[in-house]
Amino acid sequence: MPHVQTARGGVLPFEFSATAEKLFGEDFADDEFFGDVKVFGEVSDAGKCFVVRGRLECQRTFTCDRCLTQSTEKLSSDFAEEFDKSTVLDDSIDVTELLRDEMLLSRPTKNLCKADCKGLCPVCGANLNDGDCGCDRTVINPKFAALKDFNFD
Ligand SMILES: [Zn+2]
Ligand SMILES: [Zn+2]
Repeated sequence: MPHVQTARGGVLPFEFSATAEKLFGEDFADDEFFGDVKVFGEVSDAGKCFVVRGRLECQRTFTCDRCLTQSTEKLSSDFAEEFDKSTVLDDSIDVTELLRDEMLLSRPTKNLCKADCKGLCPVCGANLNDGDCGCDRTVINPKFAALKDFNFD
């Protein structure tokens, strides 16, 4: 469970890395995080509270929604949170929940191997990122066929 040291009257940097499982005592297998989660930043004394500011970097593997290939990506997210001094015990701040939320929220809502992934050919199933398969994919829904002659520019 990650803790950072408080900085009474000043600023104190922190940096650590470990697997998500080690940091949070949880198995994130479904979310496919792998390798080390890297965290670095600083704690500063802001009078009534301590401010924990920093960046979290992690990696995950996922299946692309469009072309179904296995892909990996690096995620990073910046965080800043205030901790009321009355809640801080023994000069150490528990940042487990903060970092866990950051890590989970850093995942994009769409799983794409790249922003312009061309996906699979609906006719033959070929991965169109590897080049065109030559299929005729201009199948027009009969409902919209009448609109075909309109120019939408
Ligand atoms: Zn893809
Ligand atoms: Zn095809």
